[in-house]
Amino acid sequence: MKILGIKIDNLTKNQVFQKIDGFLKDDQQHYIVLLYSNFIVQANKDRYFQQIINKADLSLCDGKGLLFAAKFLNYLLKEQISGVELVKEISNRYSKIFLFGGTKESVEKAAIVLGSNIIGKADGYEDMDKVIGMVNQIQPEILLVALGMPKQEKWINENLKKMPSVKLAIGVGGAFDFISGKTKRAPRFLQSLGLEWLWRFIFQPWRIRRVFNAVIIFPWLVLKSYYKDVP
Ligand code: UDP
Repeated sequence: MKILGIKIDNLTKNQVFQKIDGFLKDDQQHYIVLLYSNFIVQANKDRYFQQIINKADLSLCDGKGLLFAAKFLNYLLKEQISGVELVKEISNRYSKIFLFGGTKESVEKAAIVLGSNIIGKADGYEDMDKVIGMVNQIQPEILLVALGMPKQEKWINENLKKMPSVKLAIGVGGAFDFISGKTKRAPRFLQSLGLEWLWRFIFQPWRIRRVFNAVIIFPWLVLKSYYKDVP
């Protein structure tokens, strides 16, 4: 399905893992995008970013706001696929994983928390060419990239081919910050109300622009699309 010009694959978590199993078996390279409301806002003004999302092997909904918006526009998404949960489960199920992104401290801690299937790591402030060299030396099959959006998706799009051992790359946003404990997730009741943004804003007020995009611009785009489609 497409919402506001953005492809969303409507899959359950189990179906996502069936797809990933397939990706790791064939001889091509794949990437997954984890969408939330700000992706839609960014893609709306950035054609290149929109194209990258739309040609991803999977683009999944990782945000309550986006889930609500889809429902409002009469698309029923089966499940929210949380990036943090996905990263944890991937590191339980598969081996040969490389973590790239986040601060030195957060990626190192995340690698420890995620365990022995993590075979390499690099923080997101290193020389990018050096990181590609490291990946090619270590030869992971899965590359989790945490540079924030849209940087991580663009980086994957431009560099995946240079790392032939990688069968699957995923942009995971701030996942290593959460897994390492650097950033605390909102309590579950706020998450289920779709108010995680409020929590993040209280603890990270410099995110005001992102909050504005999620709370004002995104609903505005959704409403515009709704009234355009109403006869
Ligand atoms: N980051 C990075 N290099 C950069 C910019 C950002 O490694 O040049 C990391 C940053 O440390 C953080 C993540 O990217 O761990 C972005 O997290 P954020 O929550 O801002 O991303 P979002 O979930 O909004 O895409």
